[in-house]
Amino acid sequence: MTACTHLSHVLITQHPESVGGCVDCLAAGDPWLHLRICLECGKVDCCDSSPNRHASAHARSSGHPLIRSLEPGEDWSWCFVDDIALLISNVRGQTRIPPSPLGRAHSLPLRD
Ligand SMILES: [Zn+2]
Ligand SMILES: [Zn+2]
Ligand SMILES: [Zn+2]
Repeated sequence: MTACTHLSHVLITQHPESVGGCVDCLAAGDPWLHLRICLECGKVDCCDSSPNRHASAHARSSGHPLIRSLEPGEDWSWCFVDDIALLISNVRGQTRIPPSPLGRAHSLPLRD
């Protein structure tokens, strides 16, 4: 079993109270699906299911290996170097996030 050796990169110990969305998508006027936060610098980015995949792009360009999901009820983190999910329990707080601009389209088939 592979273990992540990048926990010293976790510099964020408290999640923000609320965020406005993926900062890069907001700047470009693009939609995102799910939000992730970089645990090294606190940058909020979008997931790999989003059109722009800003979280993995940020990990590549900055060398920051670890992100955590900001989705409600999700507490997993991901290491882009080891390609594994892990739980990092010493980051506190629950972040309020806006609904995904793509969420409405995705839930359309389930609407009555
Ligand atoms: Zn790692
Ligand atoms: Zn984005
Ligand atoms: Zn970062």
